[in-house]
Amino acid sequence: MTNKELADLIYPNVSSDVSIYEKKYPERNLKEGAIVTRFAPSPTGFVHMGSLCTAFVSQFVATNSDGVFFLRIEDTDGKRSVENGITGIIKDLNDFEIKIDEGALSETESIGNYGPYIQSDRKEIYESFAKKLIEEGLAYPCFCTAQELDMMREKQEHKKTRIGYYGNWAKCRNLTNEERCEKIKNGEKFILRLKSPGNFERKVILNDLVRGKIEMPENDIDVVLIKSDGLPLYHFAHVIDDHLMRTTHVLRGEEWISSYPIHSQLFSILKFKEPKYGHLGVVMKIDENGGKRKLSKRKDPEAAVSYYHEKGIPIDAVKLYLLTIANSNFEAWLDCNINTPINQFKFDFKKMSESGTLFDVEKLLNISKNYISRLKAVEVYDNLVKYTEEYDKEFNNLIKQYKDYTINILNIEREQKKPRKDYASYSDIKNHIWYMYDEIFNEIKRDYQFQKINNLNEIKSILELYLDKYYSDTDDKELWFDKMKSMCDELGYANNMKDYKENPDNFKGNITDITTVIRVALTTKSITPDLYEIIKLLGKERLKKRFDLIGVE
Ligand code: GLU
Repeated sequence: MTNKELADLIYPNVSSDVSIYEKKYPERNLKEGAIVTRFAPSPTGFVHMGSLCTAFVSQFVATNSDGVFFLRIEDTDGKRSVENGITGIIKDLNDFEIKIDEGALSETESIGNYGPYIQSDRKEIYESFAKKLIEEGLAYPCFCTAQELDMMREKQEHKKTRIGYYGNWAKCRNLTNEERCEKIKNGEKFILRLKSPGNFERKVILNDLVRGKIEMPENDIDVVLIKSDGLPLYHFAHVIDDHLMRTTHVLRGEEWISSYPIHSQLFSILKFKEPKYGHLGVVMKIDENGGKRKLSKRKDPEAAVSYYHEKGIPIDAVKLYLLTIANSNFEAWLDCNINTPINQFKFDFKKMSESGTLFDVEKLLNISKNYISRLKAVEVYDNLVKYTEEYDKEFNNLIKQYKDYTINILNIEREQKKPRKDYASYSDIKNHIWYMYDEIFNEIKRDYQFQKINNLNEIKSILELYLDKYYSDTDDKELWFDKMKSMCDELGYANNMKDYKENPDNFKGNITDITTVIRVALTTKSITPDLYEIIKLLGKERLKKRFDLIGVE
């Protein structure tokens, strides 16, 4: 019985003429140097921060080279799929504005000419290539049961020999086609295995984009190509898909490095051109005991991409952070190019971490603070409206009701050379500005943080004197400050720190004690943005009302 007859017996209705696929999915017509990458998750329903980093880098390099970035759903392993798992992934990518050029758009739709982009829809493509390999004697059906394979492994362990289905251990490799035919006709269950032409004594070299040269033994394992459910295993699907989808750069987790000899072998026997590979380090975090561990979906809320959306951390800030951890020279570049769009940054795979990237939320928040501080007040306002629309309806109503007022509040110490850096996220802002709204100020239980001056009579007399004698609607900041100084003189406080430090006993206190009293009376807090601006925005009426509250409750 010939290989062709065996192939026809296994796949009676499949054509092994794979040239139709080569024609259907031609080389992409892109400019020289354009990079084609993909994000290839299983439909687990959510994107882990580590995978998001890979997706982001893949998209970044593809888009910046005028290439293509696509989303392929790898759902051939039922255990890693959940219902509506594609929807969750697409939402996470959308929330992060990681735009795909091609691929799955929903559970059922997709765009692009290189699809289907969901592996379970590509069954006949895999079958066609599998059939071709059977015909060429490079693949064969394996009838070993799980029990037989277990027994084989035990024997290998016992003999302390390499584990796996290879060489003389590969029982079904040496069956004759007649024997195979008989078993199939008897209804015996089987899978398809590669008849590996590799030799474990020889070396294969991976020229990794991130890690440079890695030498490994050739693959001699007869790996599974097609499982008993008719769908391929990762290795076979990866090679066929990335070839037919004309991927130029495969960026994936470092856990796949050891599979490279299998992939390289498959590319070679299928006569496909190998893509470039970059294996990205695992995203780690410092754990409670100071050690490093993998960022965990179960233990770390920040591992889920949805966390950033819920917290209102700006996407662009997260992207800046991802670039910071992805490329060691990005931070320095950003310092010098703060107003340049980040797509001008030249990504360098060699500057990626090999040993695992450390994920540090504190640092991310810091980047976010800097990022938000550089936005215009109107931009912060618009983003805050969007955020609160979803997460704080009440505050949303307030800021919409007092739109211009809110923009003015957000503009305090902004749009200047060294802007104030208070907010790390949109969920933070209310905590910083709530006191500017009477609706909140009057409602909540206020906790006045008076400092050095905490005697009620003294506080009252400072507030009264300020309002009656020194307050004016029309003062500019300089005049306002001069008046504060005069008030200090009148009350026996030093109007500058130098005088106070030289002769503290000559004074009741100093000018900051006085401004602190006014600040706390108006906001309850001892630290706020510029007091002059706060006073100006609140206006005399509200100053009076707030001063009157002191000592009443
Ligand atoms: N589906 C594989 C995974 O989730 C993708 C690896 C790859 O990008 O090739 O790990």
